[in-house]
Amino acid sequence: MSDRSSIEWTDATWNPVRGCTKVSPGCANCYAEVFAERFRGVPGHAYEQGFDLRIVPEKLSQPLHWHRPRMVFVNSMSDLFHEEVPDEYIVKVAQVMQLAGWHTFQVLTKRSERMRDLLRTKLKFAAEEPHIWWGVSVENRRHGLPRIEHLRSAPAAVRFLSIEPLLESLGTIDLSAIHWVIVGGESGPGARPIQEAWVVEIRDHCAQAGVPFFFKQWGGLRKARAGRELGGRTYNDVPERVMRPVMDLDSLQNVIESVEELC
Ligand code: SF4
Repeated sequence: MSDRSSIEWTDATWNPVRGCTKVSPGCANCYAEVFAERFRGVPGHAYEQGFDLRIVPEKLSQPLHWHRPRMVFVNSMSDLFHEEVPDEYIVKVAQVMQLAGWHTFQVLTKRSERMRDLLRTKLKFAAEEPHIWWGVSVENRRHGLPRIEHLRSAPAAVRFLSIEPLLESLGTIDLSAIHWVIVGGESGPGARPIQEAWVVEIRDHCAQAGVPFFFKQWGGLRKARAGRELGGRTYNDVPERVMRPVMDLDSLQNVIESVEELC
């Protein structure tokens, strides 16, 4: 977890869950797994247990300690809706997001059915909060397009797609009720190639539908060299954020204490 992030579309990462298991081709070269497994068995390290899933309740209050408003990517090293994360814990994570209303939270999952089901029920209180954005990962047609449908049918103020790593042409996609699209190619050793035509297709769909489009990277083995220009320019569009005031320090301290009691 970090209050700074090198991920182009966020400011900070918050990991109240660590570790995950693979669900679809987009997971094949999971950067989080590679990172976490480097530290397996290192005593005292946050990833001493490698990429094994575990909840980290002592990190629940972290965003409340960040006074400057940030875009916060929730669980960059896991998937909040993983089947081993109890509903009750997911509700606590959402309660913290609701309380820390001066941030903008970005929740991204490949377990889109569970997210949809919880947004309709136990997470209803957080679904319509404009500072909490709910998103799904899309890598191909077979696995990704059904996730878009699950997301669209969930109650949510802001819905987004992270189309990364883009592994094939998605063809025509329905972007109704989608508020943001991020696209990127895979990076690192063994990165699967992306084609410009696939990106252009999505960019044009976004333009037609009036959906903000963010092109993150071409990827590849040398991601910095490949850059992130498309047709001679960068695409950095992001939905408008609600900017709420930071809680006063006394109230904040009380809230932090009550959250830490939940742990
Ligand atoms: S769902 Fe995400 S975090 Fe989990 S294995 Fe797949 S890519 Fe990695």
